[in-house]
Amino acid sequence: MELVFERPAGPTIAVAGSDRRFPVGSIYCVGRNYADHAVEMGGDPDREPPFFFVKPPFAILADNAPMTYPKFTSDLHHEVELVVAMGEEGIFGYAVGIDMTRRDLQGEAKEKSRPWEAGKTFAHAAPCGAIQPESSVLNEAGIQLSINGEVRQSGNVNQMIWKIPEIIERLSELFVLAPGDLIYTGTPAGVGPVEVGDAIEASVGGLPALSFKVRS
Ligand code: MN
Repeated sequence: MELVFERPAGPTIAVAGSDRRFPVGSIYCVGRNYADHAVEMGGDPDREPPFFFVKPPFAILADNAPMTYPKFTSDLHHEVELVVAMGEEGIFGYAVGIDMTRRDLQGEAKEKSRPWEAGKTFAHAAPCGAIQPESSVLNEAGIQLSINGEVRQSGNVNQMIWKIPEIIERLSELFVLAPGDLIYTGTPAGVGPVEVGDAIEASVGGLPALSFKVRS
């Protein structure tokens, strides 16, 4: 088959302990999957279940590369999340990710009942650390994010409302979950702004850490 033009290959993520890299497909994100974060965003976790939104592959920021502060916002927020990486036979592994959010644009979208893309999708909107191969379900691990050495978010993945098997099942039913897809599983409380010059450090249990600086 001859294409009318060639497209460049998509982004890839390092695999811990390997020279091979993980090719990124769709990036699914779970909204309000920790009760304390749902409450801080003005929601009621007992009445509103979590939900999904999607970021395109170009949002990936890999290899602890510096983040460029995006345009059209003055309120860029961090949301540290456990990332599930899907392989050819179920879960391939896990990584530390951050669901970066232009909170002002997201707020505007909510107010006008519009889609969230402007708030959630931009270059570097999905930083992701190296993937640790592991096929079993990760039920318990501390999850933390620090800025310039100061802890801003701290929780445990055992606080997730939808657990990993349930998320995978729901995604498979609603969409087409494929090898290469990443799932950002939601964030605990403590989300807040990042500024140019900040050093961000994020961790989930013993997974390869994610750290980078924010530049203009
Ligand atoms: Mn999030």
